[in-house]
Amino acid sequence: MSNSKTIPNTNFPIEKIREDFPILSRKVNGKALIYFDSASTAHKPQVVIDAIDAFYKYQNSNIHRGVHTLSQQITIEYEKARSIVQEHLNAKHAREIIFTKGTTDSINLVASSFGRKFIFEGDEIIISCMEHHSNILPWQQLCKERGAVLKVIPISDEGELVMDEYKKLLSDKTRIVAVTHISNVLGTINPVKEIIDLAHEKNIPVLIDGAQSVPHSSVDVQELDCDFYCFSAHKIYGPTGVGVLYGKESLLKIMPPYQTGGGTIETVTFEKTVFADLPLKFEAGTPHISGGLGLGAALNYLNEIGLKEISLYEDELLKYATEALNKVQGVKIIGTALHKVAVISFVIERLHPFDIGTILDQLGIAVRTGHHCTQPLMQRFGVAGMVRVSFSFYNTKDEINIFIKGLEKTISMLK
Ligand code: PLP
Repeated sequence: MSNSKTIPNTNFPIEKIREDFPILSRKVNGKALIYFDSASTAHKPQVVIDAIDAFYKYQNSNIHRGVHTLSQQITIEYEKARSIVQEHLNAKHAREIIFTKGTTDSINLVASSFGRKFIFEGDEIIISCMEHHSNILPWQQLCKERGAVLKVIPISDEGELVMDEYKKLLSDKTRIVAVTHISNVLGTINPVKEIIDLAHEKNIPVLIDGAQSVPHSSVDVQELDCDFYCFSAHKIYGPTGVGVLYGKESLLKIMPPYQTGGGTIETVTFEKTVFADLPLKFEAGTPHISGGLGLGAALNYLNEIGLKEISLYEDELLKYATEALNKVQGVKIIGTALHKVAVISFVIERLHPFDIGTILDQLGIAVRTGHHCTQPLMQRFGVAGMVRVSFSFYNTKDEINIFIKGLEKTISMLK
C-alpha cells in the first residue's frame, strides 16, 4: 500500500480481472467507460452479482427465525459471511462483527451507544481535520447533546496528521479518538497504530474509519489493537447498504443497544426486555441478507487475487498517474503524503471542478468533483472543491493516458 518503493508488477492478470466486472464493458456517452471513482463506490464482480442473484432465486428466507429448511440454510450462509469478515479482519470472535448499513451507520452506532454510556459534559472527543462528514457529524451531534467538546488534529500542507499536536490534544478528559485510516481525498495513509498506542497509554479507546483502507490493504484488528473498526461493503466490490462494525467484545458487551426491536432480544414482557448476546444485540430488524452474502463473496474474491498483489498494482497506477498529472500545466495535486493510496485530488487555477468533471464525462471518463463530503478539509486548503481520480485494480495505464489527454483537451476548452 505504501508507494515509497513501487515494484513493477507486470504479471498482474488485468485482462482476466476486467472480464470479471460486467459494467466495465459498457459505453458512456458513446465512449468506452473509464471509471476513476472507485473511492466513492467500487464496481461489482460477477461473483458478487451471482451471490445476490442466487439468494433471491433459490435461498430467499428470513434468518435466525424459522425451523424450516430455507431459513435454517440461509442462517448458516449469513453466519458464514460473518466468519469471512472475522477472518479477513483477524477479529478474535465472530460475535465482534456487527453487520450495519455501512461505515456511516457503524460510526453512528458507536457515537450513539458508546456516547450514551460514556460521554458527559466537559468530556472531549478527538477527530482529525481530514475526516469524512460521516466521521465528524455523529461526534459533533453527540458533543452538542452531551455538552462535550470536539478536538481536531491538524494536518500539514502535504496532508499528513501533525502527530505532535495529536499528542498535545490527548488529555484526561479525552473519552474517544475517532480517525480515518486513509483519507478519501488526500489518499494519506495515517499512522493508526501509533495513534492507537498513544491513546491506549491513557486508556482511551480508538475508532478507526476503514472505509478507504479495507479495499486496498489487509487489516488486522488484533495487531492494530483498535477498539472499533468500520467499513462499507460497496467500497470493497460488494453491495450497497451493508457494512461492518468491528468492536472489541469487552466494549460491545457493556454498550447499550443502538436500535431495538425484533432480532435483538432474548425475552420480552411489557415490563422488561432481556437483550440477546453479541452480535444480535446490535442488529435490529431483518438485515440486508443478500448484502451480507454479497459482502462475503466480495471478500473471497479480493482474497483470491491477493491484497498484496492488488496494492502493488494500484501503487504502480498511482505513481504513473501522479507523474503524468504533474506534467499537465496548471494542475496542482492536493495531498502529497509519503504514504498514500491510489487516490489523487487536484485543482486547476481558475477552473471549476464541476466544469472539468462534466467535460470529462462527455469523454466517458468518470471522476469525482466537489467537496467529497469533507468540507472542513476543503476549508483547510482554501478551496471550494477538488477533482478526484481514484483507481482500482481494474484500471489500467492506458486509461490513465486517455484521461490525461482528455484533461488537456478539457483545459484548452475551458481556458
Ligand atoms: N468514511 C470515509 C473515509 C469515506 O470515504 C466514506 C465514503 O466515501 C465514508 C466514511 C462513508 O461511507 P458510507 O457512505 O458507505 O457509509
